[in-house]
Amino acid sequence: MQSICPNNATIYDFDKNNPIKLTVNAGETIEISTLDCFSNQVDEQNSLSGIDWNHINPATGPIYVKDAKAGDILKVIIHSIELAETGVIAVGPGFGIMPFEAIAQKIVKVDQNIAHFSDDIKIPLNPMIGVIGVAPAGDAIPTGTPDSHGGNMDTKLITAGSILYLPIAVDGALFALGDLHAAMGDGEVGGTGIEIAGKVTVTLDVIHDQSIPHPIIETKDAFAFIVSKPTIDEAIQLATKLAIEAIHRSTKLSLHESAMLASIAGNAEISQLVDPLLTARFVVPKSILPQLL
Ligand code: CA
Ligand code: ZN
Repeated sequence: MQSICPNNATIYDFDKNNPIKLTVNAGETIEISTLDCFSNQVDEQNSLSGIDWNHINPATGPIYVKDAKAGDILKVIIHSIELAETGVIAVGPGFGIMPFEAIAQKIVKVDQNIAHFSDDIKIPLNPMIGVIGVAPAGDAIPTGTPDSHGGNMDTKLITAGSILYLPIAVDGALFALGDLHAAMGDGEVGGTGIEIAGKVTVTLDVIHDQSIPHPIIETKDAFAFIVSKPTIDEAIQLATKLAIEAIHRSTKLSLHESAMLASIAGNAEISQLVDPLLTARFVVPKSILPQLL
């Protein structure tokens, strides 16, 4: 199996001009190692206040996928997420919902599906990928920003066992991922999850002759339409509209009936409230929408 590690394959922008670090065939399975979102600069000895802020949200890549053409869909099957043994949680000025004046950080041990927040408080893990995307057709987008190319979507459903569909904007897709979280809640209201290094195994495949405007995640029992916008209102409204239109297209139901079904059986959910664009998703169970692509 081919693998790629961050040593000389770390990007801080999704950029069509980034030099390619690995080339794969469509359908190939690879291992991708990642730094944490602070580029592993924070630990028991090193405070967040002293880090180089030019090196945050690293993603490992870019990976060129043969046969991927602009307008196609990249199908990312997420097989597994392996985590390092410790992670970092932080809150402070400029990130998170609370208007803190000082930074606070906590290093937590992560083992056997549990994060040890304190002697008394243990948190179950939900390992997930924060940053995952492809190069945009236009200007470079910092890895800390989510948009239609993917990026920093900080969405809990982007986890092992799920399939992420991304709109390909440039030939080869130029895929990259990073910013693993051992655990995170919807909203990511403090500004971080349990930020952690690790290794992800994915299969990268290409769907031709179909296109999507924004990322879609397929879980075992649902499709989620993911949209990032300057406000959460705009994000939720467009995600909902895309979901209702998809129900309408994929079933024989009218648009009105599709909206009824979305209203009674779908869920409008918040992914994150703290990145440069905010991310929402509309989740449609497969009982309504068995097949999408
Ligand atoms: Ca993130
Ligand atoms: Zn993160």
